[in-house]
Amino acid sequence: MELRTLGNTGLKLSSVGFGASPLGNVFGPVSEKDANASVSEAFRLGINFFDTSPYYGGTVSEKALGKALKALGVPRSEYIVSTKCGRYVEGFDFSAERVTRSIDESLARLQLDYVDILQCHDIEFGSLDQIVTETIPALQKLKEAGKIRFIGITGLPLEVFSYVLDRVPPGTVDVILSYCHYSINDSTLEDLLPYLKSKGVGVISASPLAMGLLTESGPPEWHPASPELKAACKAAAAYCKENGKNISKLAMQYSLSNKDISSVLVGMNSVEQVEINVASATELSTVGKDEKTLSEIEDILKPVKNQTWPSGIQQS
Ligand code: NAD
Repeated sequence: MELRTLGNTGLKLSSVGFGASPLGNVFGPVSEKDANASVSEAFRLGINFFDTSPYYGGTVSEKALGKALKALGVPRSEYIVSTKCGRYVEGFDFSAERVTRSIDESLARLQLDYVDILQCHDIEFGSLDQIVTETIPALQKLKEAGKIRFIGITGLPLEVFSYVLDRVPPGTVDVILSYCHYSINDSTLEDLLPYLKSKGVGVISASPLAMGLLTESGPPEWHPASPELKAACKAAAAYCKENGKNISKLAMQYSLSNKDISSVLVGMNSVEQVEINVASATELSTVGKDEKTLSEIEDILKPVKNQTWPSGIQQS
């Protein structure tokens, strides 16, 4: 598995990262056995980066990931863990007091002494000025205390990243996690990559399968895409199937192709999915992408290209 350096952190992340939101039963129920087996197989195949949040399944994902990582029985330095703060099933709270308490709760659930990255989760739902003046300074104290190694921010609207990065001292925010903006149907993150590089900020891109849109079985009930976008992705998946291709493989390879993205975080809940996604990465580095089918799919998705959905509260 290819390793890619994450901004100025010195961390080397596997190009395929393990998104643990499915371990919080977000995409349907996952047994403890499947959770452990998925994490174990991922690690065996070279995935060293695991992402979770207290929000996923209302703490279920953090607990499941913690158990599964412990069961690996390998030194802590061999895997990289990111979790988040500020978003909970009870709602959003980016206050210094809450995020400071949050890390201790997360570490207990994960059974870890530190996390590599702590990210403010979906900052468009909070006050961005509070993120700048209160939340990130609180996270810096956690860094000094050794509970976290690096600081990140996550969100859907891309403009929240530059809003924060333009207002914090350089080097304060180490990482951004963007989702659903570097996949076949939406590649708008690309325009922001030079800016992020100039700031020395590491880039993690999540949801290469557009949270299930680019799969044969389709998205979960709660998926926020418009009916038009869902229909176009369904048509693209069906076209692939009719032609003996798999849309998820094409989608993984599309996202993995940009090396300015350090890790592509894909949600996985079975050994089979882990093996398929790792095989997609291996095939990309040995044989390359299936450019012909990819361009056919891009044609099908052209009418909805870069269509997204609203997220967060309006900032004044
Ligand atoms: P995704 O695009 O990775 O899709 C996940 C879905 O696809 C799940 O149902 C999974 O079981 C399925 N899947 C995975 N591999 C497959 C394959 N080969 N074939 C068919 N289906 C497959 O979406 P995601 O899980 O939302 O995103 C990945 C991870 O990124 C999350 O688990 C989370 O860790 C992170 N993330 C973070 C944020 C945030 O911070 N705001 C938002 C979204 C995602």
